[in-house]
Amino acid sequence: MDNLKYYWHKLKYNLSSFMHRLLAGRYGIDHFYRFLTTVVYILLIIQIFLKPKFLYLLTTILLFYNMYRVFSKNHQVRHKENQLYLKYQRKFLSWFNLQKRKFNERKEYRFKVCPNCKQNLRLKNVKGSHTVSCPKCKKDFNVKI
Ligand SMILES: [Zn+2]
Repeated sequence: MDNLKYYWHKLKYNLSSFMHRLLAGRYGIDHFYRFLTTVVYILLIIQIFLKPKFLYLLTTILLFYNMYRVFSKNHQVRHKENQLYLKYQRKFLSWFNLQKRKFNERKEYRFKVCPNCKQNLRLKNVKGSHTVSCPKCKKDFNVKI
């Protein structure tokens, strides 16, 4: 029994030192990796129901690209890719949150875009024609609600 325990610990140690040697200096996992992994899972689930060949190819390419990123030693390029991903993620999330807010506050407020600086403005839902002063660029413009 003690012998079995010894071999088990030795196997665990060898496996963990192998993993350390394998991953030393590698880029590893980041936000972009998690996003791509989620996309791969979604594509795999779609493939259970539909069986298009191009999807299989796309999934395989994404999977290999993801693995390539994890084991890459070019940290600078991988970091740039991750930053680009995070930039678009932020843009999408802010757009999504704005849509959610527009929907939740649709009875009390109207959302208009400033024609000068493209800033989103939240205006009280009062019927009629109004002159609005943009808090960002301080320009006045007319709005009809
Ligand atoms: Zn403005």
